[in-house]
Amino acid sequence: MEPADDEPDAALLAALRAGDLDAAGRLFRRHLEPLRRTAGAWARQPAERDDLVAETFARVFTIVRAGGGPQDELRPYLVVTLRNLVARWSRQRSRVELWATVPEAAAGGADELALHRSNARLVWSAYCTLPGRWRTVLWRTEAEGGTPTEVAPSLGLSPNSVSALAMRAREGLRQAYLQVQVPEAEDPGCREPRRRMGAWIRGALSPRRAAIVAEHVAGCPSCRLVTRGLVEANRELPGSAARLTG
Ligand SMILES: [Zn+2]
Repeated sequence: MEPADDEPDAALLAALRAGDLDAAGRLFRRHLEPLRRTAGAWARQPAERDDLVAETFARVFTIVRAGGGPQDELRPYLVVTLRNLVARWSRQRSRVELWATVPEAAAGGADELALHRSNARLVWSAYCTLPGRWRTVLWRTEAEGGTPTEVAPSLGLSPNSVSALAMRAREGLRQAYLQVQVPEAEDPGCREPRRRMGAWIRGALSPRRAAIVAEHVAGCPSCRLVTRGLVEANRELPGSAARLTG
C-alpha cells in the first residue's frame, strides 16, 4: 500500500495552479506507477518508457500551472497526453507498430474485440470520443487490469455498479468504433442518420429512431454504401451488449 494521501486530485491541481510545487510532487508520486505501466505497453525499452512518462508529466504540469488542463481527475489527462506523445514519436520514427498495442490497452483485449492491428487508430479515436466516465472505467479495468472491487472506491461506486458501467462503456466503445468510420455527409439530409449509424448498426437505437435511419438508408445510395462498410466492420465485434452479460 502507498502511504495515505487522501487529498483529491482536484485540490492538488488547484494548489498547483496557485503555484504550490509540492502539489506537483504529490500528484507525480500518485500517478507515476500507473502511468509507467501504461507507457510500458507502448514503449519498447524501459528508457523510452521513462522518457515518455517524464515528458508527459512535464507537459501536463506546465499546462496546469498556466491555468489549463483538468479540473478534477488527472489520470485521463495524463494518459491522453502520453498517447499523443506516443503518436508523435511514433510518426517521427516511423514506428507505426506502437499503434498496434492500442486495442489491448484501450478496448479490453484484442481477443475480445477481435480487431485487426490496422484498426488501432480507429479504436483510439473511438475511445477519445467516449464520455469521461466511460473512458475512466475502461482504463481502470481494461488497461490497468483493475477488478471492479479494486476500481470501485476511486469511482465512488459499488463493484456491481462498476461492472455495469464497464459493460456499458465497452458497448459504447464498439458503437463509437463504428461511428468514427462514418464519413461526413455532404448532403444535409444525410447528417442526422449518419450521426446515429454506429448505434443503429449495433441495434442500440429506439425502434422509432432505428426506423427513421433505416428509411433514409433505404432511399440513399451513399448512406447504403457507408452502411455496408459498417456491417462488415461490425462482424469483427461481439454481437450485442446483451451477450456480454453472460
Ligand atoms: Zn444519406
